[in-house]
Amino acid sequence: MCGLFGVRGSAHAAAVTHLGLYSLQHRGQESAGIISVDADHRPHRLRAMGLVSDAFPSDRIESELPGGLAIGHTRYSTAGSTSLDNAQPLLVNFRGTPIGLAHNGNLTNATELRIELEDRGSIFTSTSDSEVLLHRLATADAESPTDKLAQALAGVEGAYALLVLIGDTLLAARDPRGFRPLVMGSLDGATVFTSETCAMDIVGATLEREVKPGEIVTVDAKGRSAFQALTPRELHRCVFEHVYFARPDSTVFGATVEDSRRELGRRLARECPSPGADLVFSVPDSSNSAALGYSDESGLPFEFALIRNHYVGRTFIQPTQAGRDAKVKVKYNAVRHVLDGKSVVMVDDSIVRGTTTRGLVAMIRAAGAREVHMRVSSAPITGPCYYGIDTPNREELIAANLTVDEIAKDLGVDSLGYLSLDGMLESVPVPGSPEGFCHACFSGDYPTPPPTDPDKLRFGCGC
Ligand code: AMP
Repeated sequence: MCGLFGVRGSAHAAAVTHLGLYSLQHRGQESAGIISVDADHRPHRLRAMGLVSDAFPSDRIESELPGGLAIGHTRYSTAGSTSLDNAQPLLVNFRGTPIGLAHNGNLTNATELRIELEDRGSIFTSTSDSEVLLHRLATADAESPTDKLAQALAGVEGAYALLVLIGDTLLAARDPRGFRPLVMGSLDGATVFTSETCAMDIVGATLEREVKPGEIVTVDAKGRSAFQALTPRELHRCVFEHVYFARPDSTVFGATVEDSRRELGRRLARECPSPGADLVFSVPDSSNSAALGYSDESGLPFEFALIRNHYVGRTFIQPTQAGRDAKVKVKYNAVRHVLDGKSVVMVDDSIVRGTTTRGLVAMIRAAGAREVHMRVSSAPITGPCYYGIDTPNREELIAANLTVDEIAKDLGVDSLGYLSLDGMLESVPVPGSPEGFCHACFSGDYPTPPPTDPDKLRFGCGC
């Protein structure tokens, strides 16, 4: 998964982008990058592995990244592709014009498109699926930047929210199914695009609207124009953005994530009550709102029973199972005083491999809990995501291989309850819901043909 931020028309484009990226850190912690374009249309780029706070020389942002146009990216990917070559934004110079690109999503026909391009002589410098888009842009024979991008995107399948710069033109685009979020706003006359509205808030921009599925918005010296480049398809907005991925202070697909998570928690309490329990707590931070919703609906007191170390990243980032096991302890600690002798309800937003839960349950029991009832504010994850969320393949997904009773046993909980698929979709109040979501990883209902070579894809953008 990845975070995107772009601005055109600001005297402090790179500094604004840098600030925006801080609010998108949760969408990617592996690498960060910014490209700016100066008044002579020359590109400048900084990219580094690691966090936004470490990736850029804060005191030299404006001198190293001059110009009124900038795009930035935070990235996290699957194991195997953690290299600077794959860090975004990607940048090439083609016939004297800089082309830069930042992508959130995954292309499902990247392998085929890459072979086609290589057969015609394109030389790839990364293993990122996003590079396919760069080559398609470079080889598009249309004249204007908008037409070039439209031409490049025709025939591309899968999920993409994109920020592209061609010379001093900034373009934003979303795939025709709208898998990933992308919004547009303004800041003192400049145009801003970003994955999540929390990044608008930090820079003081005003949210205007979403970039529509299949739309290209172009910002150049003449101003701003919008063009429905690709015929919109049936909407497939990622429901997992609301369940887990996005920040609760963001509005995603037209609904506030905090509202969704509260409702997911309330619905979970109705579908999977826990009679006789003493208290409810969350696995912080992503399930705080859902646990509060569970508490509202059930009347059980909400307590802080787990404390999270905020200097440790998301559990998945560890590429090996041994690393993930150890990281649970580094990341969380139980509050004995709250748990001792109690029958407790632990709310988490999702179970993927089960590593986190297994470690937490052992920790909670060791802190004296008498009974542990696990409640999950999403449906069981039974399949991989091909559209940009880093879920492992079926063999590693606990719910793809075990029944709910077997999972409860494996995790060591006294009871386990998942929200139903319908309950989950009905709880997220985006316009047009409960239709219009992608729920493939829960339902197996994949809206595009799956990639022919999913393993290769995992070495792709993986964002
Ligand atoms: P696991 O330990 O594999 O069961 O992972 C479950 C935990 O990871 C839950 O606490 C989720 O909040 C979190 N999570 C779910 N999906 C992802 C993802 N794609 N990347 C990182 N963390 C995730």
